[in-house]
Amino acid sequence: MPLFDHPEFDHHRQVLFGCDPESGLKAIIAIHDTTLGPALGGLRIYPYASEEEALTDVLRLSRGMSYKSAMANLPLGGGKAVIIADPRTGKTPALLRAMGRLVDSLGGRYITAEDSGSSEADMQVIAAETAHVGGLRRASGESGDPSPFTAWGVFCALKSAVRHGLGRRDLDGLRVAIQGVGHVGAHLAHHLHAAGARLVLTDVNREALAHLAEELGAEAVAPEAIFDADVDLFAPCALGAALTESVVDRLKAKVVCGAANNQLAAPGVAERLMARGILYTPDYVANAGGVIEIAWQRREDYDRAAVMAHIEGIGATLDELFPRAAREGLSPATIADAMARERFGRR
Ligand code: NAD
Repeated sequence: MPLFDHPEFDHHRQVLFGCDPESGLKAIIAIHDTTLGPALGGLRIYPYASEEEALTDVLRLSRGMSYKSAMANLPLGGGKAVIIADPRTGKTPALLRAMGRLVDSLGGRYITAEDSGSSEADMQVIAAETAHVGGLRRASGESGDPSPFTAWGVFCALKSAVRHGLGRRDLDGLRVAIQGVGHVGAHLAHHLHAAGARLVLTDVNREALAHLAEELGAEAVAPEAIFDADVDLFAPCALGAALTESVVDRLKAKVVCGAANNQLAAPGVAERLMARGILYTPDYVANAGGVIEIAWQRREDYDRAAVMAHIEGIGATLDELFPRAAREGLSPATIADAMARERFGRR
């Protein structure tokens, strides 16, 4: 299995393979960059079909965290960890403790947190072996669920995108389509409703959709119909890869800004959006509210107002990014990558 020549390698600073025969732990920790600080990134527990698949995933996700943290003005680098196991059956306390020792062996270069397959309760078990854990509920009763913070960040990003893409300073009467009204999408819908926006919502969960639409006086449409909605802004808040070339060709919205990770189904889609005059808000810039809050949880001076203010900085970052993209004639996605790399000192 190639590592240094792996397509996702991108000069990772360190990759640690961990094995604990007693508990059955097979894990990989990838540290992409630590220029700006220790590498923070979640622990994914997943029954990967092969070690190659696990390696590809951890390298891709770890690199993504370098970009996200750099653009969120966090003193953190990018890292990620994966355990090859089924989270429903293979997640024993012994395995999690062995993972905690593996994290601890890096002496703080990597800080772990929740991700798909790992919960806050798992982080408590890991914390018995290492101090280098984020995403733990604070004694003050703060958080545990990052989605309200993510939604607030998306809302701030959206206001910037509306200013730059539509030349509007307020959201009153703005027509917004939200794809996916789960944890983040529902919070976002409430913020937009409070700001006077007119909402078109969809979700494959019909019950949750109907409930929220009624509560907010919004229009509910079938999942496929959301791409044709007559709106100003499209907010992808469901799964990744929502923006394919054919979806972009159908959109009536002139701005895209949402919470979903990896919204662009292929790299060329960013240029397709540009060609159609649609302003795309880079996903990892818009959805960094959750990681900002996790980073703050590690600080002694945690303060909710300060966390919210930090998250509002996402808007300021985009106020720099969008004009630069326009000046350089490049997509906001390309400029976000370039700005992140400048911040962590790579070409
Ligand atoms: P969630 O699972 O709570 O919500 C996703 C919603 O999308 C669900 O209600 C689901 O039924 C719906 N959905 C799935 N497929 C759909 C489809 N084809 N059409 C319409 N709706 C569909 O997840 P979430 O926590 O709200 O996260 C939403 C997105 O934001 C995900 O891509 C996630 O990776 C990303 N994200 C979330 C956070 C966070 O703090 N939760 C942080 C960063 C990024």
